[in-house]
Amino acid sequence: MNKYEKYVDIEVITLATCPECGGKAKWEPPFYVCGVCGLALRRHEYERMLDKQKSALWEAQIDQAEGPDKKRKRNREYLDWYLGSKK
Ligand SMILES: [Zn+2]
Repeated sequence: MNKYEKYVDIEVITLATCPECGGKAKWEPPFYVCGVCGLALRRHEYERMLDKQKSALWEAQIDQAEGPDKKRKRNREYLDWYLGSKK
């Protein structure tokens, strides 16, 4: 284990955003506790939900970048598949 990894392991975000309601969640070992909805998450659970949020955001950005034309095309392909599968 190098110095950097050790640092990351110790570091904890003391103020986090609740993945459920968007409120402020405080680090109260071993949980992040949301002050708004009372959600309590262990650190790795919180980080996993954060990753999910990030990938959802990423997909939304891809949709935006591709524009409505490509999205329509994708829906069209799905429709073709759906209709085709009914034959
Ligand atoms: Zn909350």
